[in-house]
Amino acid sequence: MVSHIVGYPRMGPKRELKFALEAFWDGKSSAEELQKVGDNLKLSTWKQMVDAGIKFIPSNTFSYYDHVLDTTAMLGAIPPRYGWSGGDIGFDVYFSMARGNACIPAMELTKWFDTNYHYIVPELEPNSKFFYASRKAVQEYREAKAHGIDTVPVLLGPVSYLLLSKPVKGVDKSFSLLSLLDKILPVYKEIVDELMAAGVSWIQFDEPTLVMDLDSRQLNAFTHAYTELESSISGLTILLETYFADIPADAYKTITALKGVSAIGFDLVRGSKTLDLIRNGFPPEKYLFAGVVDGRNIWANDLEASLTTLKTLKGMVGEDKLVVSTSCSLLHTAFDLETEIKMNKELKSWLAFAAQKLLEVSSLEKALTNLKNEAFFSANAAAQASRKASSRVTNAAVQEAVSLLRGSDHRRATNVSDRLEAQQRKLKLPILPTTALGSFPQTLGLRKLRREYKINKISEEDYVKAIKEEINQVVKLQEELDLDVLVHGEPERNDMVEYFGEQLSGFAFSENGWIQSYGSRCVKPPIIYGDVSRPKAMTVFWSSLAESMTKRPMKGMLTGPITLLNWSFVRNDQPRFDTCYQIALAIKDEVEDLEKVGINIIQIDEPALREGLPIRKSEQAFYLEWAVHSFRITNCCVQDTTQIHTHMCYSNFNDIIHSIMDMDADVISIENSRSDEKLLSVFHEGVKYSAGIGPGVYDIHSPRIPSVEEIVECIKKMLAVLDCTILWVNPDCGLKTRKYSEVKPALSNMVAAVKIIRKQLIANKSELFSSLWKARTDC
Ligand code: GLN
Ligand code: ZN
Repeated sequence: MVSHIVGYPRMGPKRELKFALEAFWDGKSSAEELQKVGDNLKLSTWKQMVDAGIKFIPSNTFSYYDHVLDTTAMLGAIPPRYGWSGGDIGFDVYFSMARGNACIPAMELTKWFDTNYHYIVPELEPNSKFFYASRKAVQEYREAKAHGIDTVPVLLGPVSYLLLSKPVKGVDKSFSLLSLLDKILPVYKEIVDELMAAGVSWIQFDEPTLVMDLDSRQLNAFTHAYTELESSISGLTILLETYFADIPADAYKTITALKGVSAIGFDLVRGSKTLDLIRNGFPPEKYLFAGVVDGRNIWANDLEASLTTLKTLKGMVGEDKLVVSTSCSLLHTAFDLETEIKMNKELKSWLAFAAQKLLEVSSLEKALTNLKNEAFFSANAAAQASRKASSRVTNAAVQEAVSLLRGSDHRRATNVSDRLEAQQRKLKLPILPTTALGSFPQTLGLRKLRREYKINKISEEDYVKAIKEEINQVVKLQEELDLDVLVHGEPERNDMVEYFGEQLSGFAFSENGWIQSYGSRCVKPPIIYGDVSRPKAMTVFWSSLAESMTKRPMKGMLTGPITLLNWSFVRNDQPRFDTCYQIALAIKDEVEDLEKVGINIIQIDEPALREGLPIRKSEQAFYLEWAVHSFRITNCCVQDTTQIHTHMCYSNFNDIIHSIMDMDADVISIENSRSDEKLLSVFHEGVKYSAGIGPGVYDIHSPRIPSVEEIVECIKKMLAVLDCTILWVNPDCGLKTRKYSEVKPALSNMVAAVKIIRKQLIANKSELFSSLWKARTDC
């Protein structure tokens, strides 16, 4: 019996990697300095696993940006626009792909399955060439070996790599990404050869796409790939790792039949169907890596329950073939609970971060081999019991309010076209209204201000004065730029989820529970441990203050229930939808309070709608129904003249566009520029959209400043599929990660572009005539 960890967080206990990356990008430190931080983090992680008694320790799970991008580098699949012509792929090329540079935009960033981690999407075409270009996997293996630690190199498997890629723009629709399999397999073989020569005896291939709904052609690709790989390998044990959901029966059948694969890892936390499949038969010659410790959450494992599962598995596959593991990489959980000095003790006893999960894995493994640490197990059982019985968890009034929601639809009384007219009459916006999506740059000064306020270093009075001044500047700037609908810039918010979670009951916060979102960007998800309620108004003070500073409409900014849910660590003791409804009721109160003080436009951000979508199709409709219902609950009771906006970023929305429409927002701003305008294609395909819509006109995730011409072109593309009377113009997302030196020219170009188009529209107005348009030209 042994233990294994699928993968580990990269940022470090105090986000050391984030700070090192940002210093390097800002030209404040050298490549060597960055590398040194990386090397120290890798080594301390490996040592930590050794100390915890883990047998199979992963390597090559560290990354300077993203492991999918690392795989692209490994396979030499660098898009030609980055000008790489062979040789080592240095940080310059690597980070240009990830973040863009002054001349070239970045590659697309998209969500990693249903997590809040984002990967860089490989761009492939029929003529893509592959060759072994980055030796990172073997270097990391050697690095650990030099310290006496034998590791299991982890590679993203060839089939998942291809399935997670996208064809480059303009490639014939008939092109299948899997047709490239025979081109990348020789490179994989070369890598495996080199790893074996370095002394590797186990390799882990991550093939998480196996939990998706794949067709037989896709499943055959796995058979083909692993038969090919095996044919050239002897003396190497291949572990095929799957995670994030139950594995479908046909995929299970395919992989258990693979001769070249000697071990298979399963996520046994996110469903129970895989366990049933294993019960019905698992090949006796293979190792079973049982992922019983949750890599996606921060709750302490119920060790007795896991032990029972493991004992059943042991009975089925035998002691020497069972390996205790995590459900997926620990990348998606926080780093170390020990750094949480201020956390409430009782709550802390209910939790386990990555460092503690290592101990859970190894203690389960020991318990199975009759070396049970009784004290560890009984402390765990006591914590489980205290969580079940705690009065901090249950609020009867909230439970009652949620039970009353059932069976109702919660829709606004008037249809969206009529509402838009009523709103336009009141707001008198010009055609193609311009707006920003919430945050303005979060300067160092602002962060310091909030930090000092939090630790009582500055008084409430001084804090309010400083934030007020900041809002005033942001308002002035937008007026100067001539934006139509203003935002207050969110200077009082550290994070769009944390800000609300801190004011809601049922949420708790860690000090250092950071999770990588993309690149150096980390989020610190709140922990929802109990029933959620809103003790008092959360945003009314700042929003009404901002509103009083300008004659232009000021948007109230809220984070919606689906996002608060999906970007938090959610309780695992009640269904997700119940928690979501509880949050929706709290946000509803806030929306109504904003309306009462005269805020006519309220944006309820829901960037995480798609992220919560279950991986398996059969579960998606149910999720979308309760998620969208929760959104409608928040604003079903506002007046027709109150305009509800929502905002979503980075995703493929096309397949859920009908659910997005069913949210029934008046205006939606949506990510567009970094996904090759895929979003617009849905309207080409005839989806009739009648609410307001603002597909982002430029990518805020890159420091690049878009030109006026470029934005003009972008708006023209939108006008080709969307009526000008419903089109809004805005960036892709909030501006908090940018600098003022980028934001000012970018927004100024955006407004200039709109003015050019407006002139053209007005010249052609007879063609574009409609009642709403008339209302707008009247003003
Ligand atoms: N209103 C938020 C902001 O501008 C939206 C951020 C997001 O969608 N991720 O920062
Ligand atoms: Zn966004």
